[in-house]
Amino acid sequence: MLFADAAGYYERLEAVPSRLKMIDILAEMFRGLEPEEVAPAIYMTQGILLPPFEGREFGVAEKLVEEALALSTGHDKRAVEELYIRKGDMGLAAEELKRSTRLKGIVRNSYGIREIYSMMMKIAEAGGPGSKDQKIKMLANMISAASPLEAKFIARYPLGALRLGVGDSTILEALALAYTGSREAKPELERAYNTCSDLGLVGARLKKEGMRAITDFRITLFKPVRPALAERLATAEEIMERMGGEAAVEQKYDGFRIQIHKKGGEIRLYSRRLEDTTAMFPDIVDAVRRIRAESAIFEGEALAYNEETSEYLPFQETIQRKRKHGIAEKREELPLHLFAFDLLYLNGMDYLSEPYEKRRDALEALVMGSEVIEPTRRILTGSPKELERFFETSVSDGLEGIMVKDLKAPYVAGARKFSWIKLKRSYRGALTDTLDLVIVGFYSGRGSRAEFGFGGLLCAVYNRKRDMFETVSRIGTGFTEAQMTELHRKLERIKRGLKPARVDSVVEPRFWVAPKYVVTVNADEITRSPMHTCGRSTDKEGIGYALRFPRLYGDEAIRPDKGPEEATTTEEVIEMFRMQRKVGVKE
Ligand code: AMP
Repeated sequence: MLFADAAGYYERLEAVPSRLKMIDILAEMFRGLEPEEVAPAIYMTQGILLPPFEGREFGVAEKLVEEALALSTGHDKRAVEELYIRKGDMGLAAEELKRSTRLKGIVRNSYGIREIYSMMMKIAEAGGPGSKDQKIKMLANMISAASPLEAKFIARYPLGALRLGVGDSTILEALALAYTGSREAKPELERAYNTCSDLGLVGARLKKEGMRAITDFRITLFKPVRPALAERLATAEEIMERMGGEAAVEQKYDGFRIQIHKKGGEIRLYSRRLEDTTAMFPDIVDAVRRIRAESAIFEGEALAYNEETSEYLPFQETIQRKRKHGIAEKREELPLHLFAFDLLYLNGMDYLSEPYEKRRDALEALVMGSEVIEPTRRILTGSPKELERFFETSVSDGLEGIMVKDLKAPYVAGARKFSWIKLKRSYRGALTDTLDLVIVGFYSGRGSRAEFGFGGLLCAVYNRKRDMFETVSRIGTGFTEAQMTELHRKLERIKRGLKPARVDSVVEPRFWVAPKYVVTVNADEITRSPMHTCGRSTDKEGIGYALRFPRLYGDEAIRPDKGPEEATTTEEVIEMFRMQRKVGVKE
């Protein structure tokens, strides 16, 4: 497929108001692809070069794209920069600059999708002295040969997003429609995706080998599994009732999640967002190296832990180990301890569909004898009273709470299921648990805020079933000056003229933005409200859920570590609403 044709589809995607139409357009595009083009086209649509764990980033800043635009259109750098600031989007700037190009007699070249993709890969791979100029030249060459429409997407791609508003779930549905003729295959495709976290691979397999390859899809070393997530309930009774008998009650540690892959001497660590973090934690790598297994994939929570005093250090301390420089010193100062909680693969055997009990037994045997890695501490019980007692002890030891696990359940990759239920100390009392919300719009500043050009946010939760962002709150307080400046700078760049297709809202902000940034928010209460679409019943008059007295929570409220689909979900808000009523009734 010519890149010009792909750009045509992208242009249509950007303009369409409904998610279902998006799926149709994407499916039409996928049908037109050669087998070898499927993976590159999927990554491109996601705005990435490869999945996050491959660590292949563009290494391209806005200034660099501006220089390439100047070079390839004959406009001077200042003019390019001004146009970009005015438009707030490099793609729109590129399109306009190409239309008014000052260079005559340039030969247009019709590149195919794969050619553009491999040139982008070369740009990412260029490194060392002089690489900046090389990158500029390569990008300028592509833009020179492109039409204004192609230039729009070529300029956006190295900045990490095509701004199409397409999420993984939409791509999966479009793949099912394109290659199996109906959306019904989506759950099976999703399972494969959850097993390898690589949409390009899943799409390419489906195209080349058909549905068989998808149903046979198995866990693979060095392709991280999308992590299992926990549901929440308010009381020990509810949890035990839901478990329906004896369950494992594990301590819940507040550190960071690591997924470990080991094959012989080769060891890789992946974060919750599936980034390769091997280089950050040499102490964990050393400990894994000493484990006696030919190959293994397992998960745990790493936190700074003082063995002499048996003291768990708070998250603020632990997080200091997540760094790119000064790793060796911090390793000395804050040694990590890994509490292993699940086993997914061992010596060639896939454990994903084995019950918890069996996975846990194998996990305990695997890490036995290690000083740095130990299984999570836990009890087995069917009694709410005992669960409650364990919870209280865990909290007074300085932990976050507990995780209750169904003894018979398989590992549910990428999903929030009742096979894991969390109970955190913050659920007790008022709404002290925070929410992670996606910004979908913003307001301009008035009065003393005018100088920041920023007056507040319109925020949404993620509805997994609908794959839509539903608004839940406007936020006008709790910002520091630094946060206002940062938010304004970030949001200006992703402004949209129209409401993005996957946003559901009855409120009109001053400016819409593409769902991209997540913020942590605190509120007094969850209320019912007709103003917001979160959890609204489908009839038009329906009432949704909203936050009372919302405010940004803490200095680290802007969350680069979370993507929009990892925000708090509609189901969670409804659950929190229910729990708050229960607590209210009790007290
Ligand atoms: P939350 O982020 O509050 O939804 O809780 C889920 C997270 O708790 C997981 O992603 C893990 O990082 C962490 N965690 C801590 N202790 C455990 C445990 N015993 N079992 C599973 N996850 C745990």
